[in-house]
Amino acid sequence: MLSALLLSSVLLTSNPAILSLEVHGSIEATLVKASPRDGAALGAQVARLLGWKGDLARHIHRGDRLSLAYEPGPELLALDYRGLKIKLAAYRHTGPDGIGRFYHEDGVLVEPALHKAPLTRYVQITEVPQRGRGKRKHSGVDFKADVGTPITLPFPATVRRVNWNRRINGNCIETTYPDGKRARFLHLHTVASNIKPGKQLAAGTKLGTVGSTGRSGGPHLHYEILDTRGRVVDPLKHHGTYHPTIRPENMTAFRSTVANMRTLLRF
Ligand SMILES: [Zn+2]
Repeated sequence: MLSALLLSSVLLTSNPAILSLEVHGSIEATLVKASPRDGAALGAQVARLLGWKGDLARHIHRGDRLSLAYEPGPELLALDYRGLKIKLAAYRHTGPDGIGRFYHEDGVLVEPALHKAPLTRYVQITEVPQRGRGKRKHSGVDFKADVGTPITLPFPATVRRVNWNRRINGNCIETTYPDGKRARFLHLHTVASNIKPGKQLAAGTKLGTVGSTGRSGGPHLHYEILDTRGRVVDPLKHHGTYHPTIRPENMTAFRSTVANMRTLLRF
């Protein structure tokens, strides 16, 4: 109880910045106009969350309402989006692993997690496979994670090749799953010494560690799956997904965060 009280008083006295606006054009353009200094960085954080609720190229409408609270960084603390097609209220909560993530009011994580993910500890999924008009082409899932985070093989596989096209891929591994699909792990810091072409690996084998080698904007794992004809397969669909929830013992603190944010955002 004491910790919940302390938490709420810290939040109330730290005075997060609040923006409440009507969307015109893209999320990022709207936020840059409202805050030239913080808008671009906030726009990226907001778009990443809203991207789980709809197609931002088609589902953002003029007149949608966006309210958000953030602290210097800028770091988004909470957002409330009320649009014609997309509706989302999300609140940041820092878990026992020290990583802040965004949850719905009921404590369910906004972004999905993969069953048998190649990483157990990561900050966020920052990219999913996409192509098409107005979108950057991307063929895998990017997991933002610290350099040195262990990467494990999700399914049994045979190693196909290691460290090809290093200028782009950095240190990398390509494996073949039993159904013939290929899985690629790119931008590694290290490749485990036993990972050699032709080698058969059991699920759970340690492949190496997360890095930022090759063409990479920061530490992350690019995980890509291709079918036997070389077409991109969405790892979220191949693995199946679920939504992690806040542990029951942390829900009291989270509810107090939610209540504070709702007061600040006036909803
Ligand atoms: Zn990527």
